[in-house]
Amino acid sequence: MTARTSDIEKAADVLRAGGLVAFPTETVYGLGANAEDPAAVARVFEVKGRPPSHPLIVHLGGAELLGDWVEDVPATARLLAERFWPGPLTLVLRRGRRVPLDATGGLQTVAVRVPDHPVALALLAAFGGGVAAPSANLFGSVSPTTANHVRAELGDAVDFVLDGGPCQVGVESTIVDATGEIPSILRPGGVTHEDLEAALGRPLAVHATSRVRVPGQHPSHYAPRARVVLVEPEKVIAEAELAQELGHQVGVFLPSSFADAPVKAHAVVALPASMAAYARGLYGFLRELDQRGCDLIVASLPVEEGLGLAIANRLRRAAGPRPTE
Ligand code: AMP
Ligand code: MG
Repeated sequence: MTARTSDIEKAADVLRAGGLVAFPTETVYGLGANAEDPAAVARVFEVKGRPPSHPLIVHLGGAELLGDWVEDVPATARLLAERFWPGPLTLVLRRGRRVPLDATGGLQTVAVRVPDHPVALALLAAFGGGVAAPSANLFGSVSPTTANHVRAELGDAVDFVLDGGPCQVGVESTIVDATGEIPSILRPGGVTHEDLEAALGRPLAVHATSRVRVPGQHPSHYAPRARVVLVEPEKVIAEAELAQELGHQVGVFLPSSFADAPVKAHAVVALPASMAAYARGLYGFLRELDQRGCDLIVASLPVEEGLGLAIANRLRRAAGPRPTE
């Protein structure tokens, strides 16, 4: 789905005027501001309720612009940018002077990427600068994968919402620390660990629980309202039925291997067998179970390879302890 040219121009004008634009990318919808406008960047944090120490990703219109935004581009970063951009890969590099510290949470590094979505690329081309954007949801909650998710959660706090249809990848970008010669994965995402290793020709370090180097990061993130409980795949049905009997309104993430099994629960999501389809649907499934009034979601982790690694990471965080606990 492509947006009208007049909408792209209007969105670029809103950014120039210091406003906020929600825009589609292949991963999730972003809440964008002019990266070089500290007041606009401050509004992003305010609207999301996000602590200002939690840095944003600067979105660029093409890999050739990288040198304008970062201090130094090591050979491995150049290789990864050429191989995966536009695409769901974010590179953390040394901050260029153009990037205000407000966008990096005070860090001397900056996260940059070129999104692979025609509407995002048209917006970035029309605007001409960098767009600092986190996901367009309230801090800690589930990322939006449609324009309606954004409208429902942020409403009038956003000056303009560009609708580019549902996101095709559905989970956030893979974040790679590329400041040194040996890169490491800070957060698994849309580009797989296997693809990165194949491009680099050597093994990569992965931080098992998304240990992004950000001060004050809370283990609960990407979380629906309902509490999420993770069990072994073969225990999902029994666990869900027990909780339902105990009076919970249970939502079930039914693994594809149990597709036709009857389940006595409030709501059931039959998971797709393909990890790409699961990733694309993940946040929509969580939102759907919230909307259907579930207070408990029973799920299991997929095999942690390929996109399964990013899905498992998000489910673990969704099941993490909540700030009130
Ligand atoms: P979001 O996808 O909304 O969570 O926003 C961007 C992600 O990029 C956050 O998880 C940040 O922690 C991460 N990030 C942004 N800048 C940096 C950086 N300089 N170093 C490490 N992680 C970063
Ligand atoms: Mg987010």
